[in-house]
Amino acid sequence: MKCLVPVKRVIDFNVKIRIKSDGSGVETEHVKMSMNPFDEIALEEAVGLQEANVIKEIIAVSIGPKAAQETLRAALARGADRAILIETDDVLEPLNIAKILKVMVEQEKPDLVILGKQAIDDDCNQTGQMLAGLLGWSQGTFISKLKINLTQNQIEVTREVDSGLEMLTLTLPAVVTADLRLNEPRYISLPNVMRAKSKPLEIKSLSAFGLTLKTHSQIVQIELVPPRKGGIKVESVNILLDKLHDEAKII
Ligand code: AMP
Repeated sequence: MKCLVPVKRVIDFNVKIRIKSDGSGVETEHVKMSMNPFDEIALEEAVGLQEANVIKEIIAVSIGPKAAQETLRAALARGADRAILIETDDVLEPLNIAKILKVMVEQEKPDLVILGKQAIDDDCNQTGQMLAGLLGWSQGTFISKLKINLTQNQIEVTREVDSGLEMLTLTLPAVVTADLRLNEPRYISLPNVMRAKSKPLEIKSLSAFGLTLKTHSQIVQIELVPPRKGGIKVESVNILLDKLHDEAKII
């Protein structure tokens, strides 16, 4: 069984975000970048299934600038067998990422695609769903458990939904998206970092895909949320009710 894991290069989750002075976007110059945390979880799941001899090959794929090679080297150190960078400096919206991934799926013919449930930079939570839609494949989003039943050509997933947990059986090939509780990614060991250097990393140019990618939305302005004002302590419930009525005017 072959598995494709799309991984996105994003600002590291520990970094305090700075907005560009003209409000056109977020500052990424001299900022630590890392693999999107949900993609680390997606990759860890694939690696665990490979260790259990369920998956034979894991291919990590990233769409982004030249520097996304670092993210792919990290994916190789985490256990991917090979990596593909589709190089572009354009900032692409999820539908366009999904269209590019569809071409990758047609070329690589995986049985399963495991994505993160969302990228922490745009918080879109759309790419996996759109990819499954474009391919006409089964989809399981926000999964917290994955079991593969190769004899039946099916997978069983547990999804984290508002009302609790939903268990689904999906026919392969399928697209799933990883939620936080699917697993805990392991630390990358130094020998694995060294080994990753000799694993194959192929670079493709986006222009060679021959896709016409339209842009459907445009960032108008990015602003920081204003800092929260400090709270106050009140002496009694009655004073609280008076304040909610007279000052906040919400009751
Ligand atoms: P999003 O829909 O933007 O929140 O992203 C959801 C998931 O799609 C991410 O967790 C990744 O697995 C995948 N993805 C999004 N953008 C890219 C990209 N540029 N390269 C590779 N994978 C991506």
